[in-house]
Amino acid sequence: MKTKSRRSFLRKSTVLLVGGFTAWQSVLRNAAADSRTTGQIARTNSDAFVLPSLPYAYNALEPFIDEQTMRIHHDRHHRTYVDQLNKVLDKAPEWKGKNLEQLLSQLSAIPETVRTAVRNHGGGHWNHTFFWNIMMPSGGPLPTGKLLDALQARWTSYAAFQTAFTEAAMSVFGSGWCWLIADKNQKLSIVTTPNQDNPIMDIAAIKGKPVLGIDLWEHAYYLKHQNRRAEYIKDWWQVVNWPKVALLYESE
Ligand code: MN
Repeated sequence: MKTKSRRSFLRKSTVLLVGGFTAWQSVLRNAAADSRTTGQIARTNSDAFVLPSLPYAYNALEPFIDEQTMRIHHDRHHRTYVDQLNKVLDKAPEWKGKNLEQLLSQLSAIPETVRTAVRNHGGGHWNHTFFWNIMMPSGGPLPTGKLLDALQARWTSYAAFQTAFTEAAMSVFGSGWCWLIADKNQKLSIVTTPNQDNPIMDIAAIKGKPVLGIDLWEHAYYLKHQNRRAEYIKDWWQVVNWPKVALLYESE
């Protein structure tokens, strides 16, 4: 990133105040910067959103998530959300300077003519950027520390949490997401959202700070697992980046 755009990116980051999640957003961004991706959920100088690179190779999550799925999911699906978001914002110039988190947390204030498109494509861009970052090649350590304490406080054990999360993910009808979120008191809950909605949206039934999330659209698993969502979820547990989830949980 050029110095000028970096400076402008940083300035925009420091003025972000969305639901008190500023530090948490910066964790996600820094994590992305660490992995040499640039422009995460930020904009370029031209005020257009950009598709971030994956923080690992396309085949890094094999054999649990296959390379072809990752290529199509990132290069085509995620790119389409970014492109369509930029396109719709051309029709709402007063919203063009906003950061993605600002857009999603103020959907009700966005003109009706573009609101649904911002919700779907902006949500798609945020969700996928988040999703890439909470996965890692297999062999990551299971939760420890404060995150494990919070999981045990709510579900008794890590295994019981995993069962509850899997059941919630299986219960999503059609396309959507299942999330682990923290409230202002750092209490954890499992919530599901339809389509590309997420818990940072002002219109979400239950809002909170996402610390883990799984994409339940068939495009996330159909090539390898066909219609077998349960097998996809089982494989996905093997690639959860628990150190990153813990960082997100512990950020304010
Ligand atoms: Mn997806």
